[in-house]
Amino acid sequence: MGEVDAEIERFIRNLFDTMYAARGVGLAANQVGIARRVAVVDTGEDPAIVLIDPEIVDREGKHRAEEGCLSIPEIFGDVNRATRIIVETTSLEDGGRRQHELADLTARAVQHEIDHLNGVLFLDHLSPLKRRMLLKKWKKLRQGKPGYIEAVRAAS
Ligand code: ZN
Repeated sequence: MGEVDAEIERFIRNLFDTMYAARGVGLAANQVGIARRVAVVDTGEDPAIVLIDPEIVDREGKHRAEEGCLSIPEIFGDVNRATRIIVETTSLEDGGRRQHELADLTARAVQHEIDHLNGVLFLDHLSPLKRRMLLKKWKKLRQGKPGYIEAVRAAS
């Protein structure tokens, strides 16, 4: 995505603000309509992490737990994720690549956000039947309401 500059730092601050306002634990740039490989995660269990061009270089374990998503509020499903990961990301400080070893909820949130950057929703990890059920529920819930991304645009 090019170099880390003041514009990206501003954008990342905005991502954190939007995520905290929505009471989320992670948010990817493309969830707010920006096509960049950038995401933020703050689960409260570990220091907040900025993901710039993130890549999971190692993963181990498997754990099933319920996930939700700011892009499809009020819809939840059980997803299998690795319990420990090593993620490589570009540092905001000097633009160099750094590896972070993460576990549990933070590892889960980082995997969820990297999925977003790859165009994958947590629903895509569920069985076709479960996914259809949840999408039906989501359609019902959002009738007449603006989507999450539209709401962000309206507020700016
Ligand atoms: Zn999400």
